[in-house]
Amino acid sequence: MTISIVLFTSDLRVHDHPPLRAALRGADAVVPLFVRDPAVDAAGFAAPNRLAFLADCLSDLDANLRARGGRLIVRRGDLVDEVCRVAAEAHADEVHMAADHSSHAHRREGRLRRALQAQGLRLFVHETVRTAVAPGSVTPASSDHFAVFTPYFQRWSQQVLREPLAAPRAVPVPDAVGSEALPARGDIADVSPGLAEGGESLGRRQATDWLRTEVSTYDDRHDDLPGDATSRLSPHLHFGTLSAVELLHRLRPEHGPGPAAFVRQLAWRDFHQQVLAARPSAAFSDYRSRHDAWRGTAEAHDDIEAWKQGRTGYPVIDAAMRQLAHEGWMHNRGRLLTASFLTKTLYVDWRIGARHFLSLLVDGDVANNQLNWQWMAGTGTDTRPNRVLNPLTQAKRHDPDGDYVRRWVPELEGLRAPAVHEPWKLPGLDRAAIDYPDPIVDLADARDRFQRSREHARGGAR
Ligand SMILES: Cc1cc2nc3c(=O)[nH]c(=O)nc-3n(C[C@H](O)[C@H](O)[C@H](O)COP(=O)(O)OP(=O)(O)OC[C@H]3O[C@@H](n4cnc5c(N)ncnc54)[C@H](O)[C@@H]3O)c2cc1C
Repeated sequence: MTISIVLFTSDLRVHDHPPLRAALRGADAVVPLFVRDPAVDAAGFAAPNRLAFLADCLSDLDANLRARGGRLIVRRGDLVDEVCRVAAEAHADEVHMAADHSSHAHRREGRLRRALQAQGLRLFVHETVRTAVAPGSVTPASSDHFAVFTPYFQRWSQQVLREPLAAPRAVPVPDAVGSEALPARGDIADVSPGLAEGGESLGRRQATDWLRTEVSTYDDRHDDLPGDATSRLSPHLHFGTLSAVELLHRLRPEHGPGPAAFVRQLAWRDFHQQVLAARPSAAFSDYRSRHDAWRGTAEAHDDIEAWKQGRTGYPVIDAAMRQLAHEGWMHNRGRLLTASFLTKTLYVDWRIGARHFLSLLVDGDVANNQLNWQWMAGTGTDTRPNRVLNPLTQAKRHDPDGDYVRRWVPELEGLRAPAVHEPWKLPGLDRAAIDYPDPIVDLADARDRFQRSREHARGGAR
């Protein structure tokens, strides 16, 4: 009897899963395995919101495998040790898994390959399970990766995607291999009260609804803060409960600007993955140094705390930070505004903001988070590194009536626009009746500080 292991990591689905299909092709039975590796938790994964979403995803994956006659095997320990142990217990012949291009994943794959070889097993690593286009498969003539999105997008758009794979009808799993109990969301403390539920079944329903209706207006409405008209599929893409390849096949860019704009966002996801794969250090150091002398936690302690708590006195910034705390998710326009505010307006090190986001975001992802932070800080791939987003202008443009602010900042729920965006301008008694802070910084002063700091840094670097 031939037995293969399918090692699930951040690809927690049965539809369009190349490792699962490949394993089933060559074997009489498979062992669908997920390893809770303490090293992954120690590397910053153990944020409660992501652990809770992961628990949902694992129980849904287990249910989907059971519906096909199988089940999920969950083990806890060092991933390499556990895969080898399960391989010995199951008398497995080979292991299939999805490619992952982070530096941690590369090291882990090398260790796993060597350990399996020593046991006489082969490891098969499948591309385009997590991304639509594999990092490194599209490169410019002169470099190992694209540093600018537009030319990357042109080449990315010309790639022929592989065909999506149906979910298998049956997944026979050998009886002899035991599993630990699946983690449960209810056992995880400090989860955001409004956190979305996870799992492939829900992700697929959400994607189908999105593709049937709202994607058609995505180009017009993706920046509409109160309208909340983006897909909210990011946690599913992060945990792989949805396949980017399958989503792209289901989208028809030729059907209009909505689907075309959405395809472009999925390309951004692949873009960041290929930057990080080629420059793993961009996870923690400047991709393009501007020689900033950022304010750190000691110097800017009070500003950082006000930003984290949503008490900066700028309503749109505070609304977005409170959305993050409540839902473990934030609208993209909110992410741009709050990141610009921390790095440019408060001139605080982008790593402090990125760490805070990763502690809460359910879709928190090293490539997307760190490189978007760097984009906004002007140390990344943005070709306009000194742009500063003005929270007032942006609030008036993307939340003109103030509905987004009123939803998340109840202290301001009695105010209408424009006062809801500038409560400090209210006449004395009206202002005094509201328990809401004054702005922690003057925007003009802050812009001067940022420009002077960047000019000084440029001078010092010469
Ligand atoms: C400071 C900052 C931090 C961010 N951190 C993360 C993160 O940790 N994880 C994450 O998935 N996204 C991150 N983003 C990107 C983006 O904000 C989210 O992907 C998006 O808001 C998720 O909501 P949605 O699924 O409704 O997106 P939609 O607008 O519906 O977009 C569809 C999908 O495209 C991808 N996408 C969209 N915008 C981007 C982008 N700028 N970069 C990369 N992929 C994108 C996502 O997978 C998203 O689910 C960050 C952006 C900023 C400015």
